[in-house]
Amino acid sequence: MNPGAQTRRVLRRMFALALRALGPQHWWPGDTPLEVCVGAILTQNTAWVNVERAIANLKSAGALAPCALHTMPHRRLAALIRPAGYFNVKARRLKAFIAYLIGHLGGRIEAIRRKSLDAARRALLTVHGIGPETADSMLLYAAGFPVFVCDAYTRRILHRHGLCAHDAEYHAMQDLFHRAFPRRDAATYNEFHALIVAVGKDFCRPRHPRCDACPLGPLLTPAQRRRLQISPKPDKTPRQRQSDPPRSRRPRPPAPQIARR
Ligand code: SF4
Repeated sequence: MNPGAQTRRVLRRMFALALRALGPQHWWPGDTPLEVCVGAILTQNTAWVNVERAIANLKSAGALAPCALHTMPHRRLAALIRPAGYFNVKARRLKAFIAYLIGHLGGRIEAIRRKSLDAARRALLTVHGIGPETADSMLLYAAGFPVFVCDAYTRRILHRHGLCAHDAEYHAMQDLFHRAFPRRDAATYNEFHALIVAVGKDFCRPRHPRCDACPLGPLLTPAQRRRLQISPKPDKTPRQRQSDPPRSRRPRPPAPQIARR
């Protein structure tokens, strides 16, 4: 069996095992396609629980509509989405997206379905603050295009199972899923991404993965299992901890690029 076939086989097993153990995830948590798109921007570099608070603010202010978001002053919008963090950056990104939505799609993201998948993706990527993961989240979860969404959880899980490098490029990862599930079925991509997020949050933690309880545990080879038990990312020694700069002097985190929950 060549390496490509082996990867495809492992990915299909991952999907089957995760679905059997965790059940359907019923994504995306948004009432309308616009809410999905707004959530895809707000979730950049923050947990979904914070996005929910920001969206609740927008709803109670009657602002979760294209025109309301378009005409609202920047400062007001930033204040409403403050719980999602990076609120000034995200307010600018939301404004840019809404301007595109109104200017090119008549205020309805569903209208992007008139384009081919590649053209729709290229168009979204021209909008300020929309990177590959955010664009694909909108295309899959709001517009129903069959495109797989990758994120940091995906990279960590694939890497730990020997399917990609620790710094694998977005499209290289995405290509693995498209090849493993070549029927380009949006429902499968939707479900598999949601399951990966669930596994990443509950089992595949950065430092202490819970492989013994994880539905994907049976797919680990003995060597992978040994490596993960020894040092997924070794804890720092006391000497290293002492040499860390104090919190206030640590470099600021990078500006948010891409999603997630
Ligand atoms: S927790 Fe372990 S078994 Fe589960 S996905 Fe991560 S590495 Fe794999």
